[in-house]
Amino acid sequence: MEQINYGQIKCKQCKKPISSKMGEVEYSDFINEFFCNPDHAHQYYLDYMQSRPVELNKDDLNLLNVELQNGFLFGKTSE
Ligand SMILES: [Zn+2]
Repeated sequence: MEQINYGQIKCKQCKKPISSKMGEVEYSDFINEFFCNPDHAHQYYLDYMQSRPVELNKDDLNLLNVELQNGFLFGKTSE
């Protein structure tokens, strides 16, 4: 008989062991990871996607190759 071994699963964000006492355990099908609560999942996802707030000022927008036109954001097109 083949023995199946299990390793303890911990929250990907805070490394806390996942337990049945946690009310809102979250799971990501995309990265196959567990989180101890939705907040930790959201924090991890934002970091994982290198997501950050952006200032809508000329210098910062220049670096991203976009600009404001009448208050709306436009990206440069190749044509
Ligand atoms: Zn956590």
